[in-house]
Amino acid sequence: MRTSRQKSLNVLVSIFLAGVVLGGSACRSRAVDVPTASIDRPVEASVSASACAGNTSFLIGSGIYDITGPAAELGMMGYARIDQKTAGIHMRLRARAFVIATPCNGKRVAFVSADLGQVFQVMKQQVVAKLQTTYGQMYTDANVMLSATHTHSGPGGTSHYALYNLTILGFDQQNLDAVVDGIYQAIVRAHNNLDAGTITVASGDLTDASINRSPEAYRRNPEAERAQYASNINTLMILLRLQKRTGLEIGTLNWFAVHGTSMGNDNHLISGDNKGYASYLFEKAKGTNYFADETFVAAFAQSDEGDVTPNIYGGTNGGGANDFESTALSAQKQYNKARALYDSATESLVGGVDYRHVYVKMDAVQVAPVWTDGVSPYTTCTAAIGISMLAGAEDGPGFGREGFTCKDVHNVWKAFTCADTQTACQGEKPIVLEMGSQQPFPWSPEVLPLQLVTLGNLALVATPFEVTTMAGRRLRNAVLTTLGPVGVTRMVIVGLANAYAGYMTTREEYAQQDYEGASTHFGPWQLSAVQQEMDKLAVALRDNLPVAPGPTPRDLSCCQVTVQTGVVFDDKPPDQRFGSVITDANASYSRGQTVTIVFWGGHPKNNLRIQDSFLQVQQKNADGTWSVVAYDWDWETTYTWARDHCFACSHNTVQWTIPSTAAPGTYRIRHDGTWKSVSGSMHPYFGFSREFTVD
Ligand SMILES: [Zn+2]
Repeated sequence: MRTSRQKSLNVLVSIFLAGVVLGGSACRSRAVDVPTASIDRPVEASVSASACAGNTSFLIGSGIYDITGPAAELGMMGYARIDQKTAGIHMRLRARAFVIATPCNGKRVAFVSADLGQVFQVMKQQVVAKLQTTYGQMYTDANVMLSATHTHSGPGGTSHYALYNLTILGFDQQNLDAVVDGIYQAIVRAHNNLDAGTITVASGDLTDASINRSPEAYRRNPEAERAQYASNINTLMILLRLQKRTGLEIGTLNWFAVHGTSMGNDNHLISGDNKGYASYLFEKAKGTNYFADETFVAAFAQSDEGDVTPNIYGGTNGGGANDFESTALSAQKQYNKARALYDSATESLVGGVDYRHVYVKMDAVQVAPVWTDGVSPYTTCTAAIGISMLAGAEDGPGFGREGFTCKDVHNVWKAFTCADTQTACQGEKPIVLEMGSQQPFPWSPEVLPLQLVTLGNLALVATPFEVTTMAGRRLRNAVLTTLGPVGVTRMVIVGLANAYAGYMTTREEYAQQDYEGASTHFGPWQLSAVQQEMDKLAVALRDNLPVAPGPTPRDLSCCQVTVQTGVVFDDKPPDQRFGSVITDANASYSRGQTVTIVFWGGHPKNNLRIQDSFLQVQQKNADGTWSVVAYDWDWETTYTWARDHCFACSHNTVQWTIPSTAAPGTYRIRHDGTWKSVSGSMHPYFGFSREFTVD
């Protein structure tokens, strides 16, 4: 049976990999054993829990930093389409960090929301390692929480596990370095800005910005359970307002569950999607200076979005005439809600900062009956995905359809019986790929972090999964049962946190085998296992006890496969220079029109221009000097890269759609870049459009 199933798996894997060609290994890969225990991590210090009773005094700091990776010729992360590669920038991606501490117990946490598809395990490993080089043991796995906004319009190749690099064509060091350093720099800024302040909280429902994309699966949950809730999605936005004792507003942080899929799978411009734009709107309203060490930071963080889409008219339809409009509609709703909550947030968080963290070998959890069906214990399974994962979700359709059963597989491929595609452990899932049994090491991680943080009476429940609505409710309820009696009144699921390993549905939703169930790696009882293990963290936090750290995740830096293309050299016609104009501006424009300038230029991989820009829209002052009115991250601009004219020639196109608020006057467009010579030397260049007027 095993042999038969393996054979069938190989065939199905071939389907999965159709079109994917993996190149040679960068180094000899080797099997990596996962130790069952580790003693090289500190356990929690024992501080009296009552020391922080009634506390409303916090130390707070915020920081923001650029994490925009290669803007051309790198596969994008999210929709798993090989042909979706970066070709420019609409919005820059950013890491938004908050350090929050309570003097009453001497504890601190660093929370980061990053404009990423996922936070992969290697990012957490490397960010914490960098922090420890700077700050010693002040920051550890336990008190650093990294969460992804789940934009599907960022560059990929940043996982050390094969599954997440397949459609990217392998690992990309340049992108990973940009992300790790940017997250680190954001935390350093938040750390340096730490000062006394208050944190107030507010929450409210945002009901017209999201829908459940797998309602059939949701309906499989018990009727009595569904009857407790008004909706098949979590519509609650919880928002924090951080203000220093000086009165300085340093930022805001909210959680709202919705996928970053307003931009579709045919987009090639880097974008923070709806949450990235909502952050931008808030930051623009507060005058954020992205070059400053301290400035207002507005994070729109991800929550229990597993089955939640912003495409409220179904499929990929977010209500706009195109992706940009749909993104703007979703972002504006989230911003409006957040702004209203921010302006009315007067309730202080009460209590201390505390945290517990554990690594769990997720494919080998014995789950007690109290967390399963009340009758039998179950175990979690070797990581695998079901065939319906290939179908994609409604907002990113792929191959086949959702809800594929093993009988459906048999109907399409007669050779495969249910016995070929199913295992006892994985239940209803017709397996297309068993990542956990791939050699020499698994294609997706199985030693995974669970983390629980309390910021006073608010608990952050962080898992490395995309948690569906009802799964999120069960998980929150499990933690609230334990922590409610000691003062926790608000709960948030922090999504896609600290690592990534697919989705997490309820047992009942799993049986439907929609995209989310097919993407629940560790089998039907994964949620029960996480409830059980998270409850252990809650009990330890409540009772002020340490937790054992659990096994240490692999470090796979050694063993990455890539066929990423580097820049060989940059070229241009002999009568042109880098930065000279191919298509110039008209003499004049009206507001609402789009200015398009095309430059001879270099490849954006030569210099990512982190904390900088590939373009400037400049306005002429009365004294003849120029002021910058827009950069490459602004909504009204795009920077687009294309190969053209010759083997190594780049066309760099800058577009500026003149906003209705633009002042009449004289403008010009500047493009900055770097070109690479045949010998490999790098040369910065810039160029200007002609001057033009806006009336
Ligand atoms: Zn997702």
